Amino acid sequence: MQYYSLQDPQHKASFETAVVQGIAPDKGLYFPERIPALDPDFITHLHTYTDQQIGYEVIRPFIGEEIPEAALKQIVNDTLHFPFPIQKVTGHTYALELFHGPTLAFKDVGARFMAGCLGYFRRGSTRPVTVLVATSGDTGGAVASGFYNVPGVDVVILYPSKKVSTLQEKQLTTLGGNIHALEIQGTFDDCQRMVKTAFLDADIQSHRQLTSANSINVARWLPQMFYYFLAYKQMKAAHPRLVFAVPSGNFGNICAGMMAAAIGLPVSHFVAATNINDTVPRFMQNGQYEPGKAVPTLSNAMDVADPSNFVRVLQLFGNNLPSLKEKFTAYSFNDKDTVRTMEQVWKEHHYMLDPHGAVGYLGLQKYLAGVPDLTGVFLETAHPVKFEDTAPKALQDVIYTPPRVMSLYGKEKEATLLAADYDVFKKWLMR
Ligand SMILES: *Cc1c(COP(=O)(O)O)cnc(C)c1O
Repeated sequence: MQYYSLQDPQHKASFETAVVQGIAPDKGLYFPERIPALDPDFITHLHTYTDQQIGYEVIRPFIGEEIPEAALKQIVNDTLHFPFPIQKVTGHTYALELFHGPTLAFKDVGARFMAGCLGYFRRGSTRPVTVLVATSGDTGGAVASGFYNVPGVDVVILYPSKKVSTLQEKQLTTLGGNIHALEIQGTFDDCQRMVKTAFLDADIQSHRQLTSANSINVARWLPQMFYYFLAYKQMKAAHPRLVFAVPSGNFGNICAGMMAAAIGLPVSHFVAATNINDTVPRFMQNGQYEPGKAVPTLSNAMDVADPSNFVRVLQLFGNNLPSLKEKFTAYSFNDKDTVRTMEQVWKEHHYMLDPHGAVGYLGLQKYLAGVPDLTGVFLETAHPVKFEDTAPKALQDVIYTPPRVMSLYGKEKEATLLAADYDVFKKWLMR
């Protein structure tokens, strides 16, 4: 499969180039040059396949022959080695739990899949590639865990000092080996700016080959299609047409769901639920794309003002707003709604939401209120324990702590403290 740059459709690249570069040289996002179509029989018989077989069938057309069958199967097996259960929350709403992976958030799937692909493409190479990533919390842990010990790959993670949760910090600072954590004395925006500047810096590029591991990278974006197929596998017997509600920040996850639908998964509607960073909900109302400045919220992994993957969503619909509206709705919710929902869902349904899942749940309820005979699935994107620090006191006492989290608390943090100053960072990278 070839990929083209959304800035310039004439610029094309192989899957390998798209993965290793991350973003096209003209700064456009890569997009598959054609939308494959899955065999309808495969969808009809989805329940007869294992999760790993489904993952392989879904991703194969996007890669073609660039990774041989056995190697790709291995990558998919290593990616999908934990469960993706569906839990009933109310009569017509279900949670798809995406937090059973190593770092307790859905980003494990994309990070592990990308690590597998990059490891494959760099096999036998003498010049290591450096994965450079800025994180507001969840991405860093998933990338650290996914890329840990991948030969030929070095990982540098920038995170804002004192602005990630204790658990998140442990996840990115306790592995060692090929994982380097830089604790930046600044904000997430400072981290992101330093990373972006480094990608444009010829001195650094000649010293190290850099790539990014956020959802701009096709190898992190596309495997997220798996969630939607795995949900459908579990729901199809009783509910053949689903609504999916997705808590959205950079819109990579929901855009992968929409790609899943484009290649043949029957989905009735997509609901993007954001926190008060509502650039997309506003766009859907008035057609004006006006990203402001990101505002901090309780669902901090979605504190994004200018979601990078929304251009891909638009591309899937030929940049036609009316046809997008037929399949896609976006709503925004504030922290007060979020907390109230976490409390209420625990009290009434005995289901513990994290703040991101709570936003997704709200989006689903709002949409279903207008179409009461439909059934919906919201994506529970993180384990509540990851955001325990900011949960209401009464809930903190009852949030379950999985044993593998307990052992993390005892591990020693290893991070390099740096000023939020590009020259200091550059010197560290050039050392
Ligand atoms: C990253 C993240 C999101 C947002 O996903 P996007 O693909 O950026 O829209 C939602 N919830 C959690 C817990 C996350 O870590």
